[in-house]
Amino acid sequence: MLSQEPFLSMAYSPAYAEGDDDPREVEYIEIKVKSALHHTRLPYSPKPFYYSLNLYRGCRHGCPFCFARYTHWFLGFQNSFDFQRKIQVKVNLLEVLEEELSNPRRKREWVTLGAATDPYQPAEKKYGLARGAFRLLAKYGWPAVFSTKSDLVLRDLDVLGELARRSNAGVAMTLTTLDPALQKFLEPHAVPVARRLEALRQLKAHGIPCGIHLMPIIPFLTDREEAIESMVRTAAEMGVDYFVYNVLRLRGQVVKGYYYHVLQKFNGPAFEQTRKLYGSRPYPPEGYVAALYRKVKSLKEKWGYQNRWKGIFSDKQLELF
Ligand code: SF4
Repeated sequence: MLSQEPFLSMAYSPAYAEGDDDPREVEYIEIKVKSALHHTRLPYSPKPFYYSLNLYRGCRHGCPFCFARYTHWFLGFQNSFDFQRKIQVKVNLLEVLEEELSNPRRKREWVTLGAATDPYQPAEKKYGLARGAFRLLAKYGWPAVFSTKSDLVLRDLDVLGELARRSNAGVAMTLTTLDPALQKFLEPHAVPVARRLEALRQLKAHGIPCGIHLMPIIPFLTDREEAIESMVRTAAEMGVDYFVYNVLRLRGQVVKGYYYHVLQKFNGPAFEQTRKLYGSRPYPPEGYVAALYRKVKSLKEKWGYQNRWKGIFSDKQLELF
């Protein structure tokens, strides 16, 4: 059945499905870039996400549904292992970023990181681009927001604290599930959720605005009421400043085809249901999405949870991403 998917004819080898515990080292490919900040081009993007900044290309965390698989494929990395094993590192990025941030003609706007690659993936231990970027953002007074699935962020509490004081900062931990077995499938190389929650506690203790991204909510795997409620409850109990969420987007055959391939092996019934739900679209039908978001809203009400990041994002904006 899947052999008819354009996915395979695009030569995107589904190696992950055979297992991704191969001990071969990750390869870091050092590249130079001409620009650092990029205007967010999505037409529905709220204003605070005016610039995006990506430090790496590819992501070691290796989530099978990641939409950035498409851009990695586009760059010529056509084996699914490549996305999480061949990581491009923008080695001159800090130099370029400093030029851009110090340019008086540029308007200071929010910079968002983590949209296409995790700034605190393991490469960061070696290259320190996130630390350098946050230092520069603090130095020039630009506000930044990002999400990560790593507690490596705790290494930079000092710099992030300075950024929060001098301009503004929002640090979110992205969570998909609290179930360790499911996490192994959905985020194979990310740190355990307990460590991410501990990182949130420490960020909060240091006065850094922080939140939880429940992103994405995955049909037939993480969309049950109890699963969502456990996330909302966690946000309420921890008193994080914001809790945002969205539903799984499967854009293009590289992403959708690959996700289906691995899902079929992991959970056959969920694969069949997902195919039926998405059809040829990148999103589930409106009715499913509306019911899902209603469910999250009612759970937020049940737990008395309200985003407290007023003045920066409106609730409407928060729920857009
Ligand atoms: S952590 Fe984020 S950027 Fe990295 S693979 Fe997962 S979804 Fe993609």
